[in-house]
Amino acid sequence: MALHEGQAQEVVKKTAATRTAALLLTPALAAAALPDRATDRAAGRPAPGRTTVPEQAASEESSAGAAGIGDPYFPNAGNGGYDVAHYAIRLRYTPRGQRIAGTTTITAHATQNLARFNLDFSGHKVRSVKVNGAAASFARRGQELEITPRGGIAQGARFSVAVAYAGSPRQLNDPGLGRTGWIPTGDGAVTLSQPVGSASWFPLNDHPADKATYAYTITVPKGLKVVANGELEGSANIGRTSTFKWSSSKPMAGYLAMIAIGRFKTLDSQSPGGVRSFVAVDRANPSIPKRLQELTDKVTDWGVRLFGPYPFDSTGGVVDDVRVGYALETQNRPVYPGGANMTLIVHELAHQWFGNSVSISRWQDIWLNEGFATYAEWLWSEQHGGRKAEAYFTDAYSKTGDFAGWKVPTGEPGRKKLFAAFPVYTRGAMTLHMLRKTVGDTVFFQILRAWTAEHAHGNATTADFRKLAERVSGRDLDKLFDTWLSTKGKPSLR
Ligand SMILES: [Zn+2]
Repeated sequence: MALHEGQAQEVVKKTAATRTAALLLTPALAAAALPDRATDRAAGRPAPGRTTVPEQAASEESSAGAAGIGDPYFPNAGNGGYDVAHYAIRLRYTPRGQRIAGTTTITAHATQNLARFNLDFSGHKVRSVKVNGAAASFARRGQELEITPRGGIAQGARFSVAVAYAGSPRQLNDPGLGRTGWIPTGDGAVTLSQPVGSASWFPLNDHPADKATYAYTITVPKGLKVVANGELEGSANIGRTSTFKWSSSKPMAGYLAMIAIGRFKTLDSQSPGGVRSFVAVDRANPSIPKRLQELTDKVTDWGVRLFGPYPFDSTGGVVDDVRVGYALETQNRPVYPGGANMTLIVHELAHQWFGNSVSISRWQDIWLNEGFATYAEWLWSEQHGGRKAEAYFTDAYSKTGDFAGWKVPTGEPGRKKLFAAFPVYTRGAMTLHMLRKTVGDTVFFQILRAWTAEHAHGNATTADFRKLAERVSGRDLDKLFDTWLSTKGKPSLR
């Protein structure tokens, strides 16, 4: 995510959230780490419309999956007890009232015996829930959709959940995070869901620790187009509607799921380096698709040279007419509200390696996304005749010791300062610059490429990065990382 300056400053002023110790966050570990919570919930408060859990499933070996995946910043985000492999999202969109109706079918496997499990889903009317094709009872508590399959699900079993729903998605508005979720535009809608907006438009395990592949089948009134993550598999006109199929065969964090509906000018081609690219520009926007595509291709090919192989099957971008105050690195195809410029494109495409392919396991580590994407901006500038990374660093370091931005530790910013411009973005980039100065250019770029290669399409933590940097450089870097990531106050240059 790239914030506009005004909003970024506003975020900086907010007070830090108090937080508890972090837990490991793979679904399996989260389930293992939260037995008490899982057991408490299995004991179950009666919910309207829920059938009695069969005795076998309610035995002591079977319990409810946790209502959260274990992220202290977002306790309700994600769920425990299962791991999603694939989402198939089928929606029909009606512009009047921004109504959507359809079914999301999830393929997952159970990481524990499950008498019950949750999905994250807010708003809408849920019409039915089926598990492995059989009707399942369900209840709703806030953003939690609690599903009780008949007979439970055995640990290790692969299962499907089909949730049919209809309604007008509500966009979320968090003072620290801005507008997210399903955002209406002049000619349709676009979804921008970092960090937890996806649950406002489809049911999911809403945490980057559980990545999955996606397929979208979106039906819209004829004349509108649908752009999404991944590859366009085809489109067809039937009567007064058009249906677009997109699919993303590489794992993706739920907050990166993007569909844009509207009147778009589109271009489908290939970068000089051989990466397929697909761009879309709102017809009402003055941006020129060819220009967006040229810049996108140039940055993508540059990223390949610097960071390693492009992680996905295509690159691209979407310019849509919507004012949310930020651009977002939605997988394969960032969204640039209102328009794009070179810095934004560099930032959002750098995220394809840093954040999208290598994803965080817990929100606390967001500097692994934003610090790296910001440093990519500095590197681009330095390598294209602009300011050197050292000049950006010196400029940021010139802020006096009483500057509020120094008080928030980059590696532990707190939920309310998750996207704070200085502590997370700038000081994150400064951390990388200090690492580069310490280990030298050759080793520094080896570290970046080892990071994107070893964790491609997976998840990683700050501890993983520290370990990798020490291994590749052969140096003890504890003091550097402790100083720059964990210490409050302006770091000394020794
Ligand atoms: Zn970003």
